[in-house]
Parts: sequence; C-alpha cells; structure tokens
Amino acid sequence: MTTKRKLNKTGKIALAIVIIIIIGVPAIFFFTRKYTKDEMHILKIAENYQMKIDYPITHQKKLDQQIREYINLEKEKFLNTVDLKIPVGESQKYELIIGYQIIKQQDLNKNMYYHIHFETYTYLGENQYIRSDKTFHYNRKNKTHLSINDYLTEDKALEKLSIFSYYYMMQHIEENSLEIDEKLVKQITAVDLDNYEHFFFKDEGLEILFPLYKISAEYDEMIKIIIPSKEINQLLKDQYKIKENEKEKEQIVPKKRDLAKYKDKKLIAFTFDDGPSGTTTNRLLDGLEKYDAKVTFFVLGNRVEANRNTLKRAYQEGNEIGSHTYNHRNLLLLNDYARIQEIKETNQVIENIIGIKPTLLRPPYGNINEETKKISNMHIIEWGIDTLDWKTKDKELIAKEIVDNAYDGAIVLLHDIYEFSVEGALLAMERLEQEGYAFVTISEMAKLKNITLDYTTLYHRFN
Ligand code: ZN
Repeated sequence: MTTKRKLNKTGKIALAIVIIIIIGVPAIFFFTRKYTKDEMHILKIAENYQMKIDYPITHQKKLDQQIREYINLEKEKFLNTVDLKIPVGESQKYELIIGYQIIKQQDLNKNMYYHIHFETYTYLGENQYIRSDKTFHYNRKNKTHLSINDYLTEDKALEKLSIFSYYYMMQHIEENSLEIDEKLVKQITAVDLDNYEHFFFKDEGLEILFPLYKISAEYDEMIKIIIPSKEINQLLKDQYKIKENEKEKEQIVPKKRDLAKYKDKKLIAFTFDDGPSGTTTNRLLDGLEKYDAKVTFFVLGNRVEANRNTLKRAYQEGNEIGSHTYNHRNLLLLNDYARIQEIKETNQVIENIIGIKPTLLRPPYGNINEETKKISNMHIIEWGIDTLDWKTKDKELIAKEIVDNAYDGAIVLLHDIYEFSVEGALLAMERLEQEGYAFVTISEMAKLKNITLDYTTLYHRFN
C-alpha cells in the first residue's frame, strides 16, 4: 500500500518558490551573463553641434574610471570651444566623434591585457576634422599601464622596431602614392617611446599607428602599419609572442535560403548601422529566427575585430554584411587618402573575418558625392524609413514608426547598438508578419525585384 501525502497550501507555495528559485535564478544569471553591458553610447544632436561617443565598459574599476575621465575631458573641451563659436552654417554642424577599438590579449601565463585605442575627431568648421588619439595598454592583474618597452626583449629591441617601422611605413607610402617626406618618416619612427604609444596585437602581427598629423600640418591622418608576426616575434618577450598558426582563415559558409517562397510577399529590408555589438546584435540575431527574417548590417570597421564572433554569426546565419566606413566620419569632409582608407580598411577587416569583401556601402549620415561613389566602387544603400530610434529611444514608438510607414520594397534604418532599437525592430516584425511581409536582406530584395544594383544610384527604396 502506498500512502499519498497531500501537500497543504503552505507546502505548495513553498514548493513553488523552491522550483522558481531552482529554474529562475540560473536563467537570470545565464541571461545577464550572456548579455552583460559592455559599452556606452552617447548620441546628441543639438542645434549647432552633434556628438557621437562610444566607449567600452571593461568592468575593471580603475580602468573604467580612467576611460570616463578621458571621455569627460574631451567632451568638456569640445563644448567649451563650441560655446565660443558662432554657428558653423546651415548644412553643417560642429561635431565630436569618439570611437574606439578594444583588443583583449592573453599572455602565456593567462594574464589579461586590454588594449584600447580612442580616436577623437572634432569638427570645428573649415572643412577639416581635427584628430587626436589615446591608447590604454592595461594589465588587469597588476592594474598598471604598459608601454611598448614592457613587451620587448631588451634595450636594442626598440631600435630594431624603429627600423622595421620605417621600412613598412615607406612601403605603405609607396603603395598609396603619398607625398610624404622621408625625413618625416624618419622622425616619426625614431627611437622614442612617444612614437610607439599606439600599438595592437593582431593575428597577423603588431599593428602600429603613427600620428602623422602631429608632425605635418598637411595631413590629418594616422598611418597604420603591420609588422608581420615572423619579424616582430624576434623582438617580443616569450610570453607575448604572436602565434603564427592562428593566421589560417576559416571558411564560413552562410546559410542559403530558397527565395522562391517570398515571391508573392510584400518585402521589407531592415538595416542596422553602427554595430556590431557583442550584446545587442546577438539579441537581435536570437530574435530573427522566429520571423524567418534576414537583415543587413552596415558595420563600422573599427568595431569589427572586437566583435568578430558576432559578425561571423550574423553572416553565417544568412544576414548580409555591408560597410558603414571605418570611423563614421562625414566622407564629404575628407581628403582622398582618408576617404579611400575609410572604405578600404573596412572592407579589409570584414574580409579578414568572413572571407568576402562587402559590396554595399552606407555612408555615415547618408552623405556621399560623385567622386566618393567612384572611389568606392560599391553599391550605395540609403534608406526610405528613418525610425529616428536613437532619438525616441522607445521600442513601441520605433515599432509604430516602422509599421505605420511600411510598404513593399522599403528600406528601414535602425541601429543595432541600442536595445530599444533591437526590441522595436522585433516588435515591428511581429506585426508586419501578420500583414504578409517577408524580411529580406538588400541583395535578396534586389534579386526578388529583378533589380541589378549599379554604382551610380543611391538606393532609398526598391519599387
Ligand atoms: Zn551611422
């Protein structure tokens, strides 16, 4: 005989609580861990100026404090200057752009290093950006900052590094037909720690950035070179040597889908700028499957490497990857060299990760002229529905904006670095699906509409 013991009411409640705790707590932990906030975005568009600032949150108290101090100082400097100036004109605004690159490096002893590079551009009129750079090389364990010397074997190593740098810089100058005096190159690569502030450990080697603008008024640029691992490894301490076998590129085969089933549907292309982001882009990717949706990402070159797994995932799952340039500068204000670099470098970093060069370009602010179109040799994709997501910051309003304005052949502009944009997009998809819409990439849309993309049209819509 079995005795059936019935739980009384309190017992049931207690049991329910226990179950909720057992299932719920790990679930919460899992989600918060997966999507820990890892950066901050500030976007402000005032009457006569605009600010676009992105900076990382490393969860290292001391480092985060120093980053915030740097950002606040730049912001203050900018606002104080703008305050004293008369408005720059109707079609232009003063501008502050701070973008960053972060590379986390682990040495042989499993010590973690953060390499964070900030590029700050200020536009104060006169058709020229003013650039400044700041790099942090941070040792997580000791909470100290490192210089290139800490990575090099002995005193003479910096001399050798200087010789390598001179060589690769001259090569870069030749390849890009730049008119830069050899004396300047000597000066900027000379044995001086100040010349080697901005360096990064990459798979291919050591990347060094030389601020040409510091010594030549003619250039507002940074020259970026890579010293291949084979050579730089001779100068690096054992624990920092770059593994040479990591160079092999893996082949990513994106998921293909049969477009025939979308033939009779209304089509809409959701596009996401300014990413990728390790947190919010992944949230979006998680949500797309439910709506059988593929979207297009116009990514920023300077964010690609730090978010390489996210980029791979997006591409692998059948989404399209386009370029939004490297630093998000207004292409109309740049000289030829800078313009080419903005486009070329972005295509290069994307190709390094997913194996193919993007063919679509969305210029920052949608700004492009005939000359840049020619230089880029890419299809220029603008938009027809501007959600103003960065401004309303509200998922309901964003979804409503999309649904109310949707039409067959529309291109929607969103930003996958904001949670409200991602949630708003998914909400809109939920509603549009019921109205018979299918969610396609730009290239899928062109194919389904029998449009061959050319290099002169600015595409705002496909109908
Ligand atoms: Zn943008």
